[in-house]
Amino acid sequence: MKVLIVLYSGGQAAKEQPRLLGTTENKLGIYDWLVKAGHEVVVTDDKEGPNSAFQKNIVDAEILVTTPFHPGYLTKEVMDKAKNLKLCVTAGVGSDHIDLNAANARKITVAEVSGSNVVSVAEHVIMTMLVLVRNFVPAHEQIIAHKWNVAQVARDAYDLEGKVIGTIGCGRIGYRVLQRLEAFNPKELLWFDYTDLPADAAKAINARRVATLDELLSSCDVITVNCPLHEGTRGLINKAAIAKMKKGVWLINTARGAICDRMAVVEALESGHLAGYGGDVWDVQPAPADHPWRDMRAPNGNGNAMVAHYSGTTIDAQERYANGTKEIIDNYLQGKPQNPANIIVENGDYASKAYGQRK
Ligand code: NAD
Repeated sequence: MKVLIVLYSGGQAAKEQPRLLGTTENKLGIYDWLVKAGHEVVVTDDKEGPNSAFQKNIVDAEILVTTPFHPGYLTKEVMDKAKNLKLCVTAGVGSDHIDLNAANARKITVAEVSGSNVVSVAEHVIMTMLVLVRNFVPAHEQIIAHKWNVAQVARDAYDLEGKVIGTIGCGRIGYRVLQRLEAFNPKELLWFDYTDLPADAAKAINARRVATLDELLSSCDVITVNCPLHEGTRGLINKAAIAKMKKGVWLINTARGAICDRMAVVEALESGHLAGYGGDVWDVQPAPADHPWRDMRAPNGNGNAMVAHYSGTTIDAQERYANGTKEIIDNYLQGKPQNPANIIVENGDYASKAYGQRK
């Protein structure tokens, strides 16, 4: 059986840090295990275009493993070439790099390692909120540039305390963000999701569910996006949605880049409607050198807290999603049932309710 694994290349860092498991060098720690069991395993970071190792090797692979950090984009066209493909494993959380409807049509199973990096991302969200609200980036850049001008950076620095903060999506990550925010004594915590929380989970946090996205957009000083990318969320945060937000809102997106409209974000930040935009996800990855989210700034030259997609790939998270990937493949090989929480699509249908409301 052939297993195709698409990962980012770790170079020197992967040699020096063997716990960088999600790299082509360290191969999720599963390469030897699979080879010893007699399987053919191809590991690559070469994923773009018809001549890429990804597209060449997908034709006879039975299992595809890829990560959201360096996704092998499994479009319907690529899937059409993949005659033997039965299982796609996302080493991490978020399977939007796979055309899930096409996978259903082909009865390909898509599984992810649910929960594996949700704390990692929730911590990054809190960090990004603080970085933006407290205007940290220009304050730090000033020091590196051997300068000292308190007023220049204090003019846009605020406290998180007393703000209205809301999450779009209140699943594993959104909920953990709210839990952590309580310690900052916000004015109010809000969440919008079509799925309700279990009663005990709802009770355990001091947050209010709002009935509509518009209510969340117009009420918050800080908004964090924590829903998957699917047909119902692609471009959800567009010009019209941003216009409903208060002027000076901070927007954090660690969910998926394409949930926010690229140019709507740039224009809103440059006009000052958004005081800041931060996160680690881009509408195409790796982000090209000229992606406007790299250079965009608010009018005072601040407000950009973008980084490469790494919030969910901390060393701690890599261990969890590498182990989870092994478990999913092992279950498949042994014909054992999968943990239902890990299944996104199976037997031609959505098993997860997180990828859009469906009849
Ligand atoms: P989850 O499935 O536990 O929760 C997602 C929630 O979003 C669900 O409750 C779902 O009902 C809700 N949702 C879906 N569509 C919505 C909509 N239109 N409006 C409001 N709510 C909606 O998933 P999770 O573990 O919390 O992860 C959420 C997403 O975060 C992932 O799908 C992935 O895209 C992203 N993620 C990013 C990283 C990273 O490294 N940046 C890591 C992990 C996950």
